[in-house]
This record gives sequence, C-alpha cells and structure tokens, in this order.
Amino acid sequence: MLKAIFTLDYEIHGNGTGSSYALMVEPTNRLLRQFDMYGAKLTIMADIGEILKFKKFAEEQGSDDYNYEAIARQLCDAIRGGHDVQLHIHSSYFNACHDNGHWVQDYSEYDFARLSWDRMDEMVKQGKAFLETLLRPVNPNYQCKVFRAANWSVCPSQNVNSVLTNNGIIVDTSVFKHGKRQGRVNFDYTAAFSTLVPWRTNENDICAQSDNGKLWEFPIYSEKRWIGAFLTLQRIYRVFLGRLHKLTDSPGSLPVNIVLPRKRNSYLGVWKGFTKKHAWKADFNQCGGQQLIKALERAEKKYANEKIEFPFVLIGHSKLFSRYNEWSLGPFLAYIAKHPERFSFGLFADFQLDEMGKTWGAVNAE
Ligand SMILES: [Zn+2]
Repeated sequence: MLKAIFTLDYEIHGNGTGSSYALMVEPTNRLLRQFDMYGAKLTIMADIGEILKFKKFAEEQGSDDYNYEAIARQLCDAIRGGHDVQLHIHSSYFNACHDNGHWVQDYSEYDFARLSWDRMDEMVKQGKAFLETLLRPVNPNYQCKVFRAANWSVCPSQNVNSVLTNNGIIVDTSVFKHGKRQGRVNFDYTAAFSTLVPWRTNENDICAQSDNGKLWEFPIYSEKRWIGAFLTLQRIYRVFLGRLHKLTDSPGSLPVNIVLPRKRNSYLGVWKGFTKKHAWKADFNQCGGQQLIKALERAEKKYANEKIEFPFVLIGHSKLFSRYNEWSLGPFLAYIAKHPERFSFGLFADFQLDEMGKTWGAVNAE
C-alpha cells in the first residue's frame, strides 16, 4: 500500500519578485478545489521567512500589499478542510528588506544548513510558534512537526538535526535520493538510505539510518533517470519562469565563496549530460499525470509484497500550478482515487511513527 503525500512549497519567486496572490493564494485555491474533488489531501509547506515579512510589511505600512490576510485565511481554511500546513524556511528572507516592489534577500543566510545553531534555532522556533498560534484556534490539536529547508539544503546536517528535534519537529522531508547540488547550496544525497522508505536519521548524517535517531526523514520520492524523462511542457514552463525571475548576483550581497566561475560546456560535456542519469523527483507540477502514474506503479512493484503502508512523498510549488498542470494532474488523482485497495491519499500525521518504524525497519530499503 502506498499513501500519496502531496507537499506544496508555498512561496513567491526565488529572487523575491512576484505577486503573492498570483503565485500563492490563487493557485493554491485551485489546487485545494481540485484535491477536494478526489478526496486528496494537501500538505502546504509554508515559507515562514516570506510570510512573516508580508505580515510585518502590512503592520508597518498599513497596507496589505503582500496579501498577508488572504494567506493566513487560506492556511486556516486548509486546516479546516482536513489538509495540513507545515514548516518551510527560506532563511534568506529573515533579514530581507523591501525595495521598489521586491524583496532584497540576505544571501549570506541563503544556505539554511550552513547557518549557526543559534540562528537556525531562532528561525525554526519563530516559524513553529507562528504556525501553531495561527492554526490552533482552528484545530486545537494542530502541531507543527514537519520541516523542509529551502532548496532542499539540510547538508551538513548536525545543526539541522539537533535544532529540529530541539523544537519538537520530528520529520524532515528535504532529502531526495540521488540529488546533488553545488553552488549557492551544497548537498549530495547519493548515499541516502532510501528513495521511499522513511528512516530514523543519524544525528551527524541525515542520509544515514540510525536505530535510535530522533528525527525521521520522509524522502521525496525519486528515481535516477535519463534526461529524456525530464522533458515535459510543465518543465519547459518552469525553466522559462526561472530565466525570467533569475536570482541576481547583486554586488556585495553574495559571499565570494558561493559565486561559482562559469564553465563552458564542451561537446563531450553536453553529450555526457545527455547520457548520464539524473535525480528525477515525483514533482506533481513538473511531471505529467501519466508519468506520475508510472512512477507510482514502479514504486508499488518494489514494495508489492509488503502489506504495510508506505508514504509516497510528492513535491510541488504553488507558483507553478498552471491551468495546464491542473489538467494534466487530474488523471493521476483519479487513478489513486480509483484504486483504494492499492493507494490512498494522506498526511504525515497518518503514520504512527513508533509503530510503523518497527515494520519499515524490517524492509529492504534502497
Ligand atoms: Zn521553497
């Protein structure tokens, strides 16, 4: 049995531009409406760095230009409707200032995993308190217990692990096996314990399993695939948006050690890029519905003999939820809804971790 957990990173463009209504509120409304039609559940990973800035802007300027009220209402409505809201942190927003219609971020704090313990603790504490204060009047049992770092950056993981557990966060969902980044953030998840089976993390290495680890990793489902598998209309749209809202390396704002020299690709390099396999995430905004169905079936095959339930964690971004995506996602939602004996929709809180841990631990994860 696989339980699909749809996580939605809820934020504006990475470079601090864009309308929070058009990129967060409006698409998430459409997504919630579509999910409700199929009985699907959404976990909104709310970027607290941005939302706290939007709130402060409204309080200080007396004008809610960044739609803080609509955002807060939407998060409350999601909880009321049986969906979930959990913690996402773009740390570079905590010191951001507003300038001429966009947010100038503090790039020295861009890589969450490389912040000091105290700074990280301050952000997590603030984010968790904000969500619980906002959402407990709607559901007194609401708890902020799940975390995702901006740009999946939880490596090195000593501080991340210790800060999260110190704040009562018991699940991280940033890791995707085979993932690698070098640049503004740096991580290598090649050795991650599993593509799908959650694990108790080693306190010094989030990718490694440890029997007495306090923090669980629920990996975003991933596979190693040839580059052709990445070609979808939605992904082309994402690349186009990325170019349009590029992070600008404004002088002085980026520490020298994270400005990388530009490399010219040789023909051999380009060819290698085409033939090499890359980390393909179950991204419900960038993959087509049919692609997601096939991936779900492959994951099911791997764990077909297991009678226990496993999470199949998908990732998405509200800013990418176009009308085309809405159309292409429908068949995937319908497919899950049509096979309740094999698949279901769910939330992180549906898994009794201590109980499930024993059975998951016995599975041959890869
Ligand atoms: Zn994000």
